[in-house]
Amino acid sequence: MPLRLGCIADDFTGGTDVAAALRRAGLRTALVFGVPDAATELPGDCDAAVVALKSRSTPADEAVADSLAAQKWLWSKGAAQIYFKYCSTFDSTARGNIGPVTDALLDAAGARTTLLCPASPPNGRTVYQGYLFVHDQLLSDSPLRDHPLNPMTDASLPRLTAAQTPHKVGLIDHDTVTRGTGAVRDALLAHEHDGVRHVIADALTDDDLAVLGAASLELPVVTGAAGLAEGLGRAYPTRTGTTHVPVPRTGPAAVLAGSCSARTLEQIARFYAAGLPTHHLDVLAAAAGRDIAAEALAWYDAREPGTPALIYASASPEELAAVQNQLGATAAADQVEQLLGTLAVRLVERGVRRLIVAGGETSGAVTTALGIRTVLVADEADPGVPWTHAVTASGDLALMLKSGNFGAPDLFTRALQETE
Ligand code: ADP
Repeated sequence: MPLRLGCIADDFTGGTDVAAALRRAGLRTALVFGVPDAATELPGDCDAAVVALKSRSTPADEAVADSLAAQKWLWSKGAAQIYFKYCSTFDSTARGNIGPVTDALLDAAGARTTLLCPASPPNGRTVYQGYLFVHDQLLSDSPLRDHPLNPMTDASLPRLTAAQTPHKVGLIDHDTVTRGTGAVRDALLAHEHDGVRHVIADALTDDDLAVLGAASLELPVVTGAAGLAEGLGRAYPTRTGTTHVPVPRTGPAAVLAGSCSARTLEQIARFYAAGLPTHHLDVLAAAAGRDIAAEALAWYDAREPGTPALIYASASPEELAAVQNQLGATAAADQVEQLLGTLAVRLVERGVRRLIVAGGETSGAVTTALGIRTVLVADEADPGVPWTHAVTASGDLALMLKSGNFGAPDLFTRALQETE
């Protein structure tokens, strides 16, 4: 069956998040890392494919070029509709990249109007009268106002969008959404008639997003966070085949952690507290010339086999500051990413069949090192954290790519319990 929905995500972990949402909606979903080329193939029969890009904070022209290439590839695989996924906090600046990318995707599709809604109610992101809330605060009063790359100092989606596009911006308010799919469709047509290109929609609940999804089925391009993607996915006719994706549930298991986020540090502590083997990578020792990859592998080979093992570079804020002061932040990150990529290859060669990777950048480094371009999305271990099925040179792999603050504190131990 040809692909039905093609999704373009503006960052790596956003790609995993939206892929999990589409699978929850009943679509068999593949995830593609980076801009695909003519040789990139989908892993089998899929309803949806998500291309995960790194286009959130790159210059707008690069983000546009990568997104258009992804759109073209998704079309070549049969996708009838394109969903552009960005962050539920609308991370962007007046220069973009949400507006320029959306306009380019619409131009290429010959589409006049799109629906835009970043609401993600389970995460406390709601839209009312066009204002984006983070739990009980306006976006502009939330910690996102101090974001290091994209500080969000305005919560008005119409204003934020208008700053990023030369086209007209409109709103479908919550009152209309509560009147159902027909009312939203009529409002969309009225906006299109008035020459409005970007139609922002209010949504407070997943039911609102289901209404918006059903009303957007005919739009060539729809944009939002994972919530509206799920609403849209649920509006697609149920697939005839299975959505079940089998992944190895037994066999050697490992965690590689390069995320220094608070939640990852908690997950590592829980793994350690459960009495499971853990090994810390001493980044400063590596800089001083020690072969810490070889040391980690010797530790892995010497540990009692049969239990999951965790190898981590993750550091507390103080440790991280010390390493970054000595090596420089970028050089240190590059070194750690390369190290974890090498370790992933060596572990899989040693027979690891279940691998959890903690950290967005770290996940990128590990998939690249393993030569993995596409995976199929399987069951979620926690919201937004699915297992995936990957094929490597050494065999099939159950791979979980976890962004920094995702997953419950016991994720590592729970996810690696063997199940048949
Ligand atoms: P998250 O999803 O939590 O943001 P990432 O993997 O995206 O995690 O980012 C963490 C970054 O920190 C990576 O670039 C990683 O290489 C780097 N890093 C991890 N451990 C260390 C360390 N001990 N010293 C310096 N940099 C580190």
